Amino acid sequence: MELLKLTKQGLYCEPGDFYIDPWGKVDTAILTHGHGDHARTGMKNYIAVHESEHILRKRLGAVDLKTYAYGEVFHLGEVTVSLHSAGHILGSAQVRIEYQNEVWVFTGDFKRDLDLTCEPFEVIPCDVFISEATFSLPVYRWPDFRSEMKEVYEWWMKNREEGFNSVLCCYALGKAQRIIAGLRELTDEPIWVHGTVDELNQSYAKTGMTWENVLKVPLEGKEKIHGGLILCPPSALGSTWHKRLTPKKVAFASGWMRIRGNRRRKGYERGFVISDHADWPSLIRTVKETGCRKVYFTHGHTDAIVRFLNEQGVEAHDLKLPYETEGES
Ligand SMILES: [Zn+2]
Repeated sequence: MELLKLTKQGLYCEPGDFYIDPWGKVDTAILTHGHGDHARTGMKNYIAVHESEHILRKRLGAVDLKTYAYGEVFHLGEVTVSLHSAGHILGSAQVRIEYQNEVWVFTGDFKRDLDLTCEPFEVIPCDVFISEATFSLPVYRWPDFRSEMKEVYEWWMKNREEGFNSVLCCYALGKAQRIIAGLRELTDEPIWVHGTVDELNQSYAKTGMTWENVLKVPLEGKEKIHGGLILCPPSALGSTWHKRLTPKKVAFASGWMRIRGNRRRKGYERGFVISDHADWPSLIRTVKETGCRKVYFTHGHTDAIVRFLNEQGVEAHDLKLPYETEGES
């Protein structure tokens, strides 16, 4: 039998009677992380890792949420379950399911690159691997994180010299915190953030992360920022909020910035290739390291990677899930 099945509500494990990141209303949902396309309201019970609790409570409210440590083994119905770090954002987890001597692993979203704000990805040996494939084309290869952060810092300093603020658009949960932590290795200068980022920073603070000299851009008032770096979600550019930051240069931090045309089309002056998802080499490497005999890919351009792995003797399939990950990549 298939241990996980695609149903109308989401990916379902029948012998355990639970769903993973469901989109329909169900009784028991294991959540891989707090991004909106994975953590939805309306479930009776939720299961996640300790580290994601504050983020999930902020998104879901006062729900019935049970949390476990990474690697802690628990039982649901007839299956043995454990959650393991996915390296995507704080509290992101892969789900390991064992039933009748077979092991399945679901990654949620994951990456293999350096992130100072969360546990690194753990390779879990398995028979069947279900992987995200947001960036599953050979063109997607990430530069070294620390060198990219150096680029951000130099861009900021150059703009300051020329009398501009530097507005860096990025996803507010995960990406913004990762960038702040990366910049802190280079400078103690104040870093300004939009209110949405500031609120999420508080969730990180609950797990012991300190945010010294990270300041919220006030919504009211006339005081201006000069030569500062400001992190905000792209949606903030559509509001009057950003007008107070002029004169400014605007950049975007995302895996999509690997393609120059994307930056131009979206009208950013600069693009930094910083992604919280696995790039092409990481996807291939990870599939191989798990030793799985079969892999399913969710979202992304799966045709190329399915073909590539099939040619290499790994049975690969496409599993179309109705996720939208573009915004957070
Ligand atoms: Zn995500």
